[in-house]
Amino acid sequence: MKALDELTFDNRFARLGDAFSTHVLPEPLDAPRLVVASNAAMALLDLDPVVAETPVFAELFGGHKLWAEAEPRAMVYSGHQFGGYTPQLGDGRGLLLGEVYNEAGEHWDLHLKGAGMTPYSRMGDGRAVLRSSIREFLASEALHALGIPSSRALCVIGSDTPVWREKQERGAMVLRMAPSHIRFGHFEYFYYTKKPEQQALLAEHVLNLHYPECREQPEPYLAMFREIVERNAELIAKWQAYGFCHGVMNTDNMSILGITFDFGPFAFLDDFDAHFICNHSDHEGRYSFSNQVPIGQWNLSALAQALTPFISVDALKEALGLYLPLYQANYLDLMRRRLGLTTAEDDDQNLVERLLKLMQNSGVDYTLFFRRLGDEPAALAVTKLRDDFVDMAGFDAWAELYKARVERDGDYSQEQRRERMHAVNPLYILRNYLAQNAITAAESGDYSEVRRLHEVLSKPFEEQAGMEQYAQRPPDWGKHLEISCSS
Ligand code: AMP
Ligand code: MG
Repeated sequence: MKALDELTFDNRFARLGDAFSTHVLPEPLDAPRLVVASNAAMALLDLDPVVAETPVFAELFGGHKLWAEAEPRAMVYSGHQFGGYTPQLGDGRGLLLGEVYNEAGEHWDLHLKGAGMTPYSRMGDGRAVLRSSIREFLASEALHALGIPSSRALCVIGSDTPVWREKQERGAMVLRMAPSHIRFGHFEYFYYTKKPEQQALLAEHVLNLHYPECREQPEPYLAMFREIVERNAELIAKWQAYGFCHGVMNTDNMSILGITFDFGPFAFLDDFDAHFICNHSDHEGRYSFSNQVPIGQWNLSALAQALTPFISVDALKEALGLYLPLYQANYLDLMRRRLGLTTAEDDDQNLVERLLKLMQNSGVDYTLFFRRLGDEPAALAVTKLRDDFVDMAGFDAWAELYKARVERDGDYSQEQRRERMHAVNPLYILRNYLAQNAITAAESGDYSEVRRLHEVLSKPFEEQAGMEQYAQRPPDWGKHLEISCSS
């Protein structure tokens, strides 16, 4: 276990130089205080969880103090936003404080979001509010616990600093961690500004640090791109299987590592709705739930375009062609598991699609349905679940297919089936209304609800005593919460 001043830095991105990032110091928050910390994320830095409660912790992650070895930098990137190219973006309110490595030799970027203005702030104030910082913290740690690759969050620091959004709010900072904060938009920036030397440096950097195994391949850059395609296909299959809607899949929000990145108006589905749009400024539904699949490919094509100086167009096209079949295979595999199936049959895709259509038409809770399906033997479970469906005859027809499919699947006890299904079907997810309750309490100075919710979501598959209220469908007020995009 390390003390806070014992972190070991190795600032590899900062060393790339001023073409890639600008030195900026964090702008401190007034009266910084700990809102919530993640023990699991602390462990990644070998930090003893008790240090989160010390005043110096809030000072460090509230922008007041800095390690001597930290080199805070605002990174420059660009990206396609809602389909249109924005030539320059960058860390407008976040700073890469430095890269730390732990005793296992893993590197973690420490990125402080809400740290004040930078050369890339454009019209913004460089700040993040408590509401959005809590949402990012809870989502990153909850996704990780579900087994969905994501950036991590160490802590949220609250403050008295006033920040103006639609109304006056309070500034906060969230300390985000990832092995890299490099986005698709980094490559686009150097491609469109026609800086081939810097672009090559960036590509070498990513290859050496994050895809070293691709070095062994005859065409290392192509192998790396292929790997990025594969990781994105797997990631988006997980989003779709678990009902996660990102909301702002601009290429500047897509990680080069294929992890969930940059949280804004995201949402987990309550009722299943393929057409769900969580971002209220997304009038055309570009980033609706079901559109995440083709948009994943669109984003990869934008990255491919930026890689044309290194890889032939034909090879890029071929690699892009891997995306959909891989997505489908991963998705179907996850959905089979969610249904408790251990074998594969040709008609399984149809079984899944028919179920989703029925759920869509009746507004069935996406998470609880699968959990309950595993609670009891298949025949009994479907009898109990049918009341949730308006089209009962339609559900009965599906249930017959399902029971027969389970019968053919194998000879296992209900104990085994339940255990297997509960290990992939969470009881607790980050529902918008749960986040909202925690935020409302935190805004009035009570952080206990954020901490409790974080705790519950860190073990989403385990039924936890006394936590029934976190495994319920939303109350009426919580069904259609408008999550503000200003964050
Ligand atoms: P986002 O929609 O959060 O992914 O941000 C898009 C771009 O706007 C990024 O370059 C951000 O750094 C920048 N940005 C967002 N909010 C602010 C803010 N309050 N101040 C400065 N820059 C911001
Ligand atoms: Mg962003």
